[in-house]
Order: sequence, then structure tokens, then C-alpha cells
Amino acid sequence: MSKIAMKTPLVEMDGDEMTRIIWKQIKDIIITPFVDLKTEYYDLGLPNRDATNDQVTIDSANRTKELGVAVKCATITPNAQRMTEYNLKEMWKSPNGTIRAMLDGTVFRSPILVKGITPFVSCWKKPITIARHAYGDVYKNSEIRVEGAAKAELVVTYPDGTTDKKVIHEFAGPGVIQGLHNTDKSIAAFARACFTYALDIKQDLWFATKDTISKTYDHRFKDIFAEIFENEFKDKFEAAGIEYFYTLIDDVVARIMRSEGGILWACKNYDGDVMSDMLASACGSLAMMTSVLVSPDGVYEYEAAHGTVTRHYYKYLKGEATSTNPMATIFAWSGALRKRAQMDGLPDLEDFADRLEKASIETIESGTITGDLKNLIDVPGKTVVNTEDFLKAIAEKL
Ligand code: NAP
Ligand code: MG
Repeated sequence: MSKIAMKTPLVEMDGDEMTRIIWKQIKDIIITPFVDLKTEYYDLGLPNRDATNDQVTIDSANRTKELGVAVKCATITPNAQRMTEYNLKEMWKSPNGTIRAMLDGTVFRSPILVKGITPFVSCWKKPITIARHAYGDVYKNSEIRVEGAAKAELVVTYPDGTTDKKVIHEFAGPGVIQGLHNTDKSIAAFARACFTYALDIKQDLWFATKDTISKTYDHRFKDIFAEIFENEFKDKFEAAGIEYFYTLIDDVVARIMRSEGGILWACKNYDGDVMSDMLASACGSLAMMTSVLVSPDGVYEYEAAHGTVTRHYYKYLKGEATSTNPMATIFAWSGALRKRAQMDGLPDLEDFADRLEKASIETIESGTITGDLKNLIDVPGKTVVNTEDFLKAIAEKL
């Protein structure tokens, strides 16, 4: 059998711990036997980030901007404990944060749905994808504890010295205040990433804020989305047969709960933080959650939503075979290969990406599963296997 050819390489970002082990297994067992895989390899594993003073992360992000598609393995974000464990020179920043900042991207997350695992919300038949704005609001705030009676004001000073001022509150006693911000530039990039991705996956886009209460701040989000939609995307949405729908955040939550899914849900930063955890747990397992970073100019980086699964890695190091779920990482590969195929006009490669996802889902639905799904899935004769055997079962179906 001749292998499926590629044109442009993927940017391949390797990572850490258990997911690094799975990374290699996926390539060896279910990709390279079928595809003449072309990648440009960057080792984002913590030892190499330390050795290169994190330059490797920056290089990989720059190369992604040039080539257009990357696939990334989960990586350790160092903390104090990792400093000692890996004898690090510095507490390097989160690679995901660095890449996101460099691509100015928005993260889209959606669950992989399989028969036998019913979402807790029984009307959800199709995946709901959450797009979380990854800049500003409460995540870049300034807070002050007000110690006693005081007048709190909001002051903006322009370069020419003119000011804009508003009273926040006249405190009679102790309290708290907080200052939030966002920028037109970041909101516009978020809007464009959402509209672009909705067209990509051909799903309606829903967006909500609390503009009835926040008449300037949240209203700015609403206006920017509306303007960009009107000027740049309306015709494309009509042609694709999809809709852009704006409403209030509480209304959208009520509607999501009654929907059958198949929606791209754009969320402000805080809403996205909260709602993506709600979505992940309602759909069963973190191991079945995929994630893709999309830049406003259409550069894509695919990954799993979960981390490096440290607990399993320590077992693996002791020589135990682990039953770590590779689904989200497989879907990162299939997503990247499909996108590459579409950009390069390679129908065979696109078909392979579809078949890989289908074979993976069918493997689970036919009862061959990893340990994390044991108590979640309802299929007759389910068998828990280790990761390698799970991948071999997928290869068999492929
Ligand atoms: P985690 O790696 O997501 O794992 C947390 C727990 O969730 C695991 O112990 C496991 O539960 C379960 N789990 C997650 N993925 C699984 C899978 N594929 N198959 C089976 N079970 C799975 O989160 P963490 O332990 O908090 O973080 C570990 C490291 O990952 C940290 O160093 C963190 O910095 C990093 N991290 C990286 C990313 C990223 O690169 N995108 C994201 C998050 C965290 P059981 O132990 O009960 O089996
Ligand atoms: Mg959260």
C-alpha cells in the first residue's frame, strides 16, 4: 500500500510526561503506517525549553505563522516544584500563553461525543464549541481594598493631559474596588477569529454579554462584533447557510441548555473560563476535550485540552502499562492533518483525517476503552485496555 502524501509540513510541537509518550505512540501506530508524514519538529519538552532559554517555543510559534498549521503536545507549565524536579534555570512561562500571545489567537474547545456516553444535558446531540476570549477583563485587573470611608474614582489621562473622570462609589466604610480593561484591537481579533472559525466548521455563532447593565464596556463588545459581522462576514455567512446570533449572557445560558448543540459559543474571558468547565464535565471527561487556537488571520494550532497527565507518567516510569486516553491528542493530529489537507488541496489526506476520527470513535463505541471511561460509558462487553492496545485497535479499524 502506498502512503498518503503531504505537501507542506506541519509544525510539530512535542511536549512532556505521559502525553509525550502517547505522542510517539500515536505517530508510530496510527499515523506513519498510513501517511508519509511531513513535520518540522520542535521539542517543547521542559528540558529543551530550559536548554534553549525557551527560544524553542518562540521559534515554533514563528514557524507556525509561516506554515499555517501546528499540532502541539501538552506541556508542563513550571511551578516551584518543577523548578527542583527539572533543575530549571528559570520558571519559564506557559508555552500555551506564549504561543497564544504571539498568534494573537482565540482558543476553541469542543467535546468528542461518542454513543454510550450521554451528556448530562440530555438534549445535547451535537458538540458545543466554546470560544473563550483570552485577553483582559478580570484576568488583567487592578484591585484595591478600601480601608474605610473614601471616594473611589475612575480616571483616564490622555497624553495631552486631558482627563476623563467618574465617581465609582462614595464609601461610608470599608469595601473593595476593581478596575478592568479591554482593547478594541483585542476584541476585534477575537470577533474575527470567531467568525472565521464558524465558517470553517459551518456552525451558527452565538455571542452574549451583559450590555443592558454594562452600557459602555460590554456594549463595546456587542458593537465591535456587529460591525465586523456587517462589513466582513455577513455575505459569507449567508452563503454558508449559518447565522450570527447575539443575546444576553443569561439568555444564552438558558438557550444552550435547551439546544441540541452544534453551536459555536463565543464567550467573554470570564464566561469562557466558567462555561468551558461546565461543558467539559457535562460531556464526561477532560480526556475527550479538544482544543484549537485560531489566529485572526487564519493560522491554526491544534492540541488536547488536558495536561501532561503526571500521575499516569509516574506509574509509567515505574514500568506499569497505563490506560491513558489518547483521544484528544489523536483529534489534535487529525484536526491538523485535515486543515493542512484543505490548505494544500489534498483530498486523500483529508479523507484520512476523517477516517482516523471515525475509527477512534468506533473503537470506543465497540467497547474497547481506556480506564477513564469505564464508569462513564454504557456499552455491552466493555474492555479496558492500555493505551498501546487501544491505539492498535484503532489501527486495525483504519
Ligand atoms: P492533567 O494532566 O489534565 O490531569 C489531571 C487528571 O485528569 C489526571 O490525573 C487524570 O485523572 C485525568 N486525565 C487528564 N487527561 C487524561 C487522559 N488523557 N486520560 C486519562 N485521564 C486523564 O492536569 P494536571 O495533572 O493538573 O497537570 C499536569 C501538568 O500538565 C502540569 O504540569 C500542567 O502545567 C500541565 N498542563 C498543561 C496543559 C497544556 O499543555 N495545554 C494544560 C493543563 C495542564 P486520574 O489521575 O484520576 O486518572
Ligand atoms: Mg476554569
